[in-house]
Amino acid sequence: MSTPPPLSVWAQNVSPSPTLEIDAKAKAMLAAGEDVCSFAAGEPDFDTPEFIKAAAIAALHAGKTKYAPTPGVEALRVAIAARYGAEYGYAVKPSQVVVSPGGKFSCFLGLQAVCNPGDEVLVPAPYWVSYPEMVKLCGGRPVFVAADDRTAFKLTPAMVEQAITPKTKAVIFNNPSNPTGAVYARAEVEALVAVFLKHNLYILSDEMYEHLIYDGGTPTCVAALSADAAAHTITASGFSKSYAMTGWRLGTLVARPDLAKAAGELQAQMASNATTFGQYGAIAALTEREQAGESLRAMKVAFDRRRKLMHAGLTAIPGMTCVLAGGAFYLFPNIARFGLPSVEFAARLLETEKVATVPGLAFGAEGYLRLSYAASDDTIARGLARLARFCASLRR
Ligand SMILES: *Cc1c(COP(=O)(O)O)cnc(C)c1O
Repeated sequence: MSTPPPLSVWAQNVSPSPTLEIDAKAKAMLAAGEDVCSFAAGEPDFDTPEFIKAAAIAALHAGKTKYAPTPGVEALRVAIAARYGAEYGYAVKPSQVVVSPGGKFSCFLGLQAVCNPGDEVLVPAPYWVSYPEMVKLCGGRPVFVAADDRTAFKLTPAMVEQAITPKTKAVIFNNPSNPTGAVYARAEVEALVAVFLKHNLYILSDEMYEHLIYDGGTPTCVAALSADAAAHTITASGFSKSYAMTGWRLGTLVARPDLAKAAGELQAQMASNATTFGQYGAIAALTEREQAGESLRAMKVAFDRRRKLMHAGLTAIPGMTCVLAGGAFYLFPNIARFGLPSVEFAARLLETEKVATVPGLAFGAEGYLRLSYAASDDTIARGLARLARFCASLRR
């Protein structure tokens, strides 16, 4: 028997998702009965609202169990197009909408539609773990543009200008940000987008956390800024975070008509349509405005309370500093003063105190830690006490 040939370069070069890995480890420890305080989750700890579940269950009973049109059930595309008009004044036709199997896949489709082998794609760091891998899977080269806590993890136009070369084809912009929770104000977005457009770049705008912004801040839809922005932007979003629907695997992609059509055709060959009956739940999420608004408000109130609770706990720890980020459900404290690499810090914290966090290195940012406050008030209080004890032990 001969040795089978090696796997593809795609398979050999892909890195496992460190966030999913650590979350899985924490969940396994919990399942084994260990008293773990997990801040590793990348999803709301709330359940999907009942009215959304009911709509999907009704669709199942009504036999919505067959293939749907690849780019999505028509009524859902209509509802998604309408919401961009209502929320941002961004006029979108249903034909510009693709419903995908998850916001993550929307990002990948967008990159597949514009990125050629050898193209450079700007990836602001700290970055969401999947971006560099997705760029590589398109044959592109991720070019990191790093910001740290001195600018509250936000890029400035000058930082972007420095990274652009004749090979730069696109930029990934994630606002609000996972992992830092940073929210760019509209004027800051406008200044960055002016640079992107000056260099004729495609913008993959990941707006997954658009509805989770605190302190009275508002989201900025990049494509809604101008006709030029709309022509250059692929807007990725979805239902996972706003409606606590991570397990449903439903994302959205909006782009100019020819680009959306290409993305839909790519999806047709790679995945076909997103789960048909689930799309009926998503229609309810967008059309039952009152109930959807109520559940989102309740979730936001809880997240905002926990954000402040966690931030107060983190900044009370001697040696630790933390930006009070205004969006998503993450805080990204600076742990550099404790003198441990972030991977070792997180591993020892999990081992000795059973507190699960994600090391900054996973997001291209050594010296930081990501903590999700999509956890109960009690878990936050207990977990932070343990973290404080752990930090004190390091300082001795
Ligand atoms: C959660 C998340 C997504 C997409 O999530 P799906 O579960 O695939 O819908 C996309 N971008 C960021 C930054 C996220 O955190």
